[in-house]
Formats: sequence, C-alpha cells, structure tokens
Amino acid sequence: LLGRGEVSSVELTQATLDRIVACDNEIKAYLTVAPEAALEQATEADRVRANGDRGNLPSLLGIPLAIKDVICVEGLPTTCGSRILENYVPPFSATAVEKLREAGAVILGKTNTDEFAMGSSTENSAFFATHNPWDLTRVPGGSSGGSAAAVAGGLAYGALGSDTGGSVRQPASLCGVVGIKPSYGRVSRWGLVAFASSLDQIGCFGRTVADAALFLGAISGYDPRDSTSVNAPVPDYGASLTGDIQGKRIGVPREYFLEGMQPEVEAAVREAVNRMADLGAEIVEVSLPHTSYALPVYYLVAPAEASANLARYDGMRYGLSLEGADLWDTYRKTRGQGFGPEVKRRIMLGTYALSAGYYDAYYRKASQIRTLIRKDFDRALEKCDVLVAPTTPTTAFKLGEMVSDPMQMYLQDVFTLALSLAGLPGLSLPCGFDESGLPIGLQIMGGAFDEATVLR
Ligand code: GLN
Repeated sequence: LLGRGEVSSVELTQATLDRIVACDNEIKAYLTVAPEAALEQATEADRVRANGDRGNLPSLLGIPLAIKDVICVEGLPTTCGSRILENYVPPFSATAVEKLREAGAVILGKTNTDEFAMGSSTENSAFFATHNPWDLTRVPGGSSGGSAAAVAGGLAYGALGSDTGGSVRQPASLCGVVGIKPSYGRVSRWGLVAFASSLDQIGCFGRTVADAALFLGAISGYDPRDSTSVNAPVPDYGASLTGDIQGKRIGVPREYFLEGMQPEVEAAVREAVNRMADLGAEIVEVSLPHTSYALPVYYLVAPAEASANLARYDGMRYGLSLEGADLWDTYRKTRGQGFGPEVKRRIMLGTYALSAGYYDAYYRKASQIRTLIRKDFDRALEKCDVLVAPTTPTTAFKLGEMVSDPMQMYLQDVFTLALSLAGLPGLSLPCGFDESGLPIGLQIMGGAFDEATVLR
C-alpha cells in the first residue's frame, strides 16, 4: 500500500499509535511510546518516498516498529524493565537500531521485558506485567513479551527482541507470531544491554516469515564495535523464501518430545512434520543426546556471566544511586533497592558458581558440556538441513501461575536453551491452536549462519 501510494507512512504510524492508545491499557506491551518522534520519522519517510527513485527505496521505509527495552535507542529511556535503570536515557543507539533507521523504519517506542531479560513471562518487569493479546488473563511469554504482544496485538508491524535462552522464540510461540533468533555473531550486540554475553543475540518478530526475513536482513552484518560479530556476507533472506522444500531433509530430534508436554502441542507439531513430508521434504529421526543437560548448563553459564555483567550497576556512573553512610552502604542500598528478586537470585547463583574453588566444578564443567551440546547439533545437522521441534512444552499459561516457582518457570525453556548454547539460528512459527484457541509454535533450528534455510 505504501508503494502504491494508497497509504502514507504518517497515516500508517498514526493508525498504529491510535491502536496503542485503544488497546495498550489492557495489553501493556509498551514501557515508552514516542508519538512525536515516530510521526517525525514517518513524515521524513514520506518525503524520501516522494522524492526517491521508486525502484531503489530503503527496505523498511515508513514501517512502524517497536524495540525491546534492553536495546538502546538514543533519546528514549532504556530501563531493561529495572528500577536500577528507570531514568537512564542512552546517548547513542544500538547498531541494530541504527540499521533499522538507515532502512527507513519508524520507531514507535520501547517494549516491556522481564528485568534484564531474565524470565519467561514478562512478569519479572519491575513496572508491570504484559498480557497476551489472545487471552488477557495469560502471559505473553518472555523475556521479549512486550515485543511479541505488540506484534500480535497489531500495536507494531514488527519488533526487535533479544534471545539469550529462548526470549524471542518462546514469546513468539505463545503470542502466535514469527520470531527468529539468528546465529550468535550475525547481529551486532553493540547497544544491547548485556545479560549473558556468550549467549545474547538480538532477534526479530514479524507477523509473517517474509516480514521477519526483511527485518533480519536489515539488522544483520559485521560491526567492528562488537568483537563477536562475524564478518560473513548477509544473503538476501527474502530471496530464499521460494516455498520449495522438495528434497530438504527435516530432522526430528527424539529428545524434544517429552512426557508431560501438552498433548495438543505434540499433535500440532507432528501434523506440521507430516505437512512438510507432503510438500516433498524427507523426514529423518535424529538424536541430540545431551539435551537434558541444557537446562543445568544454561543456569550456570547465564547467571555466571550475568553476575559479572551486572556488577557495573554500582550507583556511581549511571542509573539509580542511593547514597549510604559509606561506599559499601551505597552499593548495598543501590543494588538492594534497584534490582528485583529474580535478578538478585541470578547474581547470587552466578557469584557462587564463579567463586574461588568452585569455578572448575561449575563454570568450566558447564562450558565443557556446552561443547558436547554443540557437537550434538553438528552431528545431527550432517544428516539433515534443519531440525524441527516444539518451541515450548505448553501454550500460554495464566498470569501469576508460576511466579512463586522459579524452577517451573525455568522449564518453559527446555526446548530453546540448547540451541542458544550452541549459538545456532532458530525460528518459531505458528502451527495451530490448542482447544482454548491459544497459539502453538513450531521451532525450526538450523546450522550456523544458515538462517536462509530456516526461513525457507
Ligand atoms: N527464560 C530464560 C531466562 O530466564 C531465557 C531468557 C532470555 O532468553 N533472555 O534466562
């Protein structure tokens, strides 16, 4: 419609802002909405389109998008869902955000997240919980729950999230949208507030795979400001969406069908596999034998890295600062009041795991098993092009249902953690509904830097 001049970016942006006003009181996807800045960007996009060469316009010109609040956008608050950064306004934008702006996107605002992206329901936000647009009494998943809910509710055309152990794929699954986590190193982490640096990766949400492919293409690529970003060419992801999977080998890992998972989830995923076979794909049963170690390994590696990364919030340089009687008292007050219970739990777990005498037993051992997990994927992917499995063991659960049971909450990620530990790309695709009408997600996992096959 934009291309044909049937709608302007200003109209599109205004319609989305109106929808936010109408619905976000109930969904609560946004922490910050920036209507003036968004309309200014939309006006500029309309100007570029009017004066530009039609065949050569930026890929996202005039499209309104939302950004998870762990990703810096210059001039907008970046709270990470935490009291400790409540008043922090970064003086710079993340590389991924700069790239979206270069592609002509309009930034609507910042979306809710579990505090520092630690959680699976967005209930760990220090500000408020986000509600699932399919059923407002249920969670949208997390930690990028605000982004997933915004896209599902029509409060944005797409959104950025971050995925450390499942935080793009799991909320995409629970909200019935597409979410892709690229390979570690595909998208620059510069300007993404660090949680667990060896796992964190920016990903994106879209209403369709084609949208997600477009957004991913816009933010991918080498960035000298992130030493872990990889200098590899970025294919045209849109061009890989031929719809042809004839002869593709689809691996079904036996460890991803657990007793106790919701039967409708298993049935919908098996049905999707049958559909792929009908479309000419070859189905191969494979095994990822170290899968059951992913959860304990993740909950050593991620908290250990978090405890180091979060040491920077000391009340000295930026963020909350509560002055105490002496230096230690200042630390105690600032961190004691600035961090919520889940963040404190992770810092304690991580500090313990890294303490003298325990490093070899915990972090080193976990890192070794992490290598075995990566080798499982390498071996399985010799026999197939992608792996498919459920994204989550259940559909969206009720708000409040798991808040008092962290272990139960951690189990939400049993199917997403291993891929993050392996640094590989994964996508969640809607594949049906359960009896209550809640969306079910199909996870498609691929080889390193082979996002194109996953998207296809
Ligand atoms: N739910 C997982 C956790 O709490 C993963 C979060 C994420 O990917 N950011 O750590």
